[in-house]
Amino acid sequence: MTPTETVTFLRALGLKFPTFQWEAGTASEWHKSGLAFVSPTDAEAAAQSLVRKQSFVALADVLAEVRRIRDQRGAGQLLPAPPNPDDTTAYRAELVANLRRRADGFHIDTPRALPAGQRRPGPPPAEFLRARGRNPAEELARSIQCPWCQAMPHTSCTNAIQKPLPQSHQARHDAARALTSPPE
Ligand SMILES: [Zn+2]
Repeated sequence: MTPTETVTFLRALGLKFPTFQWEAGTASEWHKSGLAFVSPTDAEAAAQSLVRKQSFVALADVLAEVRRIRDQRGAGQLLPAPPNPDDTTAYRAELVANLRRRADGFHIDTPRALPAGQRRPGPPPAEFLRARGRNPAEELARSIQCPWCQAMPHTSCTNAIQKPLPQSHQARHDAARALTSPPE
């Protein structure tokens, strides 16, 4: 909250807690020691909850109650997986943003299951395949002969001593992609 919102909050807190001593420096002290990082809505919810539990209030009580309320909001709601797990920076940023939105009490739209008997149109998404240990790029590469080691379609690439490799050669990936992507 802003300094002005802090003053408004302290005034409301004084009404809830008659014992609350508010001196000249209290507002700026409470603001910079924690209330600056708390939303007015969360602070108000914390004060509402504290007034039912205790007759004295300190900044630490308000901050602890805000944290408890925000943790509780998150407890029951699943977060959707961010779209691209390979872009770690964007993945982390979206995850943190969603955690924050969830703690703020906003609804986050998670993908719903399809109604019974309905199929999702199109091929399964890459995340779905990856979660089941399948790699779409690798499957695409294995559908053609490897131009590097001459491995036949649907067989593994091999190294110099004919040992199968867990992943196809880069040349096979590139050739398979070139075959499937439209000409420019
Ligand atoms: Zn190969």
